[in-house]
Amino acid sequence: EGEGVELVDRLLTAAMRRIEDNESELGRLDAVAADGDHGLGMTRGMRAAVSAAREAAGSSVADTLLAAGTALADAAGGASGALYGVLLAETGAGLRVDEITTAVVADAVDGAVRAFTELGKAELGEKTMLDAIEPFRQALRKQAEAGAALPDAWREAAQAATLAAEETANLVPAKGRAARLAQRSKGHADPGATSFALIVTAIGEALGK
Ligand code: ADP
Ligand code: MG
Ligand code: MG
Repeated sequence: EGEGVELVDRLLTAAMRRIEDNESELGRLDAVAADGDHGLGMTRGMRAAVSAAREAAGSSVADTLLAAGTALADAAGGASGALYGVLLAETGAGLRVDEITTAVVADAVDGAVRAFTELGKAELGEKTMLDAIEPFRQALRKQAEAGAALPDAWREAAQAATLAAEETANLVPAKGRAARLAQRSKGHADPGATSFALIVTAIGEALGK
């Protein structure tokens, strides 16, 4: 269990750095049709998540991710903060097991995406984070069924999320703040889908090390 918590710390730290490196780009994307705070909010949120995970050292992987998710939601504020908070906490809830395998992680992600959708009520194609999250979930499931090892499976899924996030540039926002100035957002990727792809990509890279 201690090893698992150390791994969570390492993965969250890698994700935080990737978000910090892309803060201004995420802000720019969010400013195209909304309020431009996604980069700042995510940087604040990820820093709080990493601090909370470190303070939770000694507890289980699930409790560490719950603490990280709660801290992220509080610190980031905004729609995406609450949604990322649920994703982290619910993924953790699916990891109350002795051995973390690809299938266990795929199941945990299924549960997290269900909780995410219940909270945000977005549907596919509405130009939100979900348009990167769902392809990620499906690719991970497929990898688990094929018996892939976790780092490989995660990296495949992250690649699917990255492509899908890029493709959100072709969509028109129907949920969230950007829906009001929807036409402006044409040709630009959704900020939340982009941050999700950055986070899972950084985690995939850190998983192999
Ligand atoms: P806010 O809109 O409150 O300023 P952020 O700028 O941090 O929050 O996040 C915006 C992102 O949140 C969007 O790009 C979108 O991906 C995501 N988002 C907003 N509302 C929803 C929703 N109902 N379901 C899923 N994702 C959403
Ligand atoms: Mg915003
Ligand atoms: Mg905002």
